[in-house]
Amino acid sequence: MTTQETIELFEKYVIGNYPRLPRVIVKGEGSYMFDADGNKVLDMFPGWAVSGIGHCHPKVVEAIRNQAGRLLHIDNTLYSEPQGKLAKLLSERAFGGKSFFCNSGAEANEAALKLARLHTPQQKYKFITAEGSFHGRTFATMTATAQPKHHEGLLPLLPGFVYVPFNDVVAMEAAFTDEVAAVMIEPIQGEGGINIPDKEYLQKIRRLCDENKALLIFDEVTTGVGRTGKWFAYQHFDVVPDIMTMAKALGGGMAIGAMMAKDEVAASLVPGKHATTFGGNALACAAAVAVIEAIEEEKLLQNAAEVGRYAKEKLELLKQKHSIIDHVRSVGLMIGVQLTGPGSEIVDKCLDNGLRINCTQGTVLRFMPPMIVTKEQIEEAVDILDNVLTEQAK
Ligand SMILES: *Cc1c(COP(=O)(O)O)cnc(C)c1O
Repeated sequence: MTTQETIELFEKYVIGNYPRLPRVIVKGEGSYMFDADGNKVLDMFPGWAVSGIGHCHPKVVEAIRNQAGRLLHIDNTLYSEPQGKLAKLLSERAFGGKSFFCNSGAEANEAALKLARLHTPQQKYKFITAEGSFHGRTFATMTATAQPKHHEGLLPLLPGFVYVPFNDVVAMEAAFTDEVAAVMIEPIQGEGGINIPDKEYLQKIRRLCDENKALLIFDEVTTGVGRTGKWFAYQHFDVVPDIMTMAKALGGGMAIGAMMAKDEVAASLVPGKHATTFGGNALACAAAVAVIEAIEEEKLLQNAAEVGRYAKEKLELLKQKHSIIDHVRSVGLMIGVQLTGPGSEIVDKCLDNGLRINCTQGTVLRFMPPMIVTKEQIEEAVDILDNVLTEQAK
């Protein structure tokens, strides 16, 4: 099929709820993707950070092939080996909790919100979330997402949500009442623009939650599974949550989400209270096990930290040449370039020149390279951006 033929199928048969770039991707390999017209693109935003260790990582592909020949899915009224194995690997790399598996980030956050209500006394029904957050598109997670643009046309929202400015200790303290069941927050905001809070902020929230017998939920759907150079972003802040959610990079390209909770909290999720048909299926869990093993065998946490620092340095150098760059915010391979003007045209031009990045909040260029990325590939990306910005300024 030609690119045009595929696009015509979409126009006729696929609901148009996504603004799509006019490219048909037919193959992915490591840090690169290839389109139907034979173009090679350096992918610094692979599948919105889902292909966190690169497209079609060989160990993940092999694990999927092996598992696919044995068992794809068995329902959760029986046991399967990959789900148990994955839960153990995650627990050992986090805070020793237990996991519930689902199929997406929004589902993981839904589970977290339900668990918080189930675990706390009935009068505690409120959730505090931060402005600029992104927690998903279901009704509860959309309500948790404290950005009016995501609510337009969808009112009324779910009751019980309280919004506070991000990284504002005073506002957080003021929002607490004895009706608060939990705070849900991203340790580093992604879609909100790569916003990194002060360590003291997250530590203060932890104390407030303890004093008010509320739970702390970290949404690590983007930050989790290594992107920041540690398994989970909370490990940079010395703050342990009661509940943590993850999804994007977990399956290496397979759809999977997880909610992990401390043992005593997890105990409140008893049979009949929550479930999902596909969650924790053998195929997705086998892929996730392979992701974790590959990260360890190939020392990808170290690579994310080291190449992340290098990327930040290189992007900061561009600032001297291009006044549109204000500053760079990053932790590991979660990188935001704050511009003084709009970024979406820059993203389009980068793609025309063989580089995929993203723009969020209008003026933040987002780089979320795969954890296998090399310094040479960062140089390649920065060169393309450099040329695009030079052209743009003419
Ligand atoms: C992507 C994302 C979600 C939603 O995940 P889906 O898989 O799209 O439902 C939730 N929280 C954060 C922080 C995310 O980045």
